[in-house]
Amino acid sequence: MLISVNNLPSKGKGYKVPEIELRPLGYTKLLEYSETDCKTPGEKLLRDIKYLVTDIKGWESFHMYDLKQIIFMRKIISITTNPEIKLEELVCPKCHEKFSQSLPVGMVHFTPIPEITDKIKAVKLNGKEYPLNLNSTVKDFYDCLTLYASRGYLRDMKIIYLSTILNMIANPNEIEEVLNTATYEDVRSLEVLYQYSSGMMSPVEIIHNGCGGDVMVQFDNLIVNLFRTVLLNNQIDESSFVLFEGV
Ligand SMILES: [Zn+2]
Repeated sequence: MLISVNNLPSKGKGYKVPEIELRPLGYTKLLEYSETDCKTPGEKLLRDIKYLVTDIKGWESFHMYDLKQIIFMRKIISITTNPEIKLEELVCPKCHEKFSQSLPVGMVHFTPIPEITDKIKAVKLNGKEYPLNLNSTVKDFYDCLTLYASRGYLRDMKIIYLSTILNMIANPNEIEEVLNTATYEDVRSLEVLYQYSSGMMSPVEIIHNGCGGDVMVQFDNLIVNLFRTVLLNNQIDESSFVLFEGV
């Protein structure tokens, strides 16, 4: 599957390739992936980048803001040719019944990068100015994530996104100090910067046919658990097998 970089949420900003080629992961890699033990969100994202992104041509120049969409699409094409995602184990908040439902892939929306990100060159935190790079690449982010992993710190992803755009890879202690001394205004700025760097996605509303109750599904969880859901809930499809006659 070829995707023009202009159709990504960053609109192709900074890319050295005009399009990216996404191939299905293949069964062996899918198994390897599933057997890699990950506990924290950081470990899961590190695994996603290693298995699903670093083998794509030109990945180093991919915009960090597109990362979630690239991972999402690679997962989708690896598990299905049907442009629908089966959502399992939804719990209706109204009648508390468990149910499953299919979601067309087209309903998954990734927000384009806000234009203002081009105009922001620094942020003031606690009275001090810090230069920003809101056009950081997936490689910048991956390096930062790897560094935090080597220090055993992968609990909070926000810190890793912020460290990347604040160019604090060389000095990770500095961001801890900035966060520890953050004022109320700083926290607001940091939350906005986190959205500008990690990609913004709106939840999807799923209606439970049984009672009309609605569940809001967050994409972040959906993307993280997509493979797990498929491997655990795979239905036997007899059309794929050649059966003995008379069975
Ligand atoms: Zn219900």
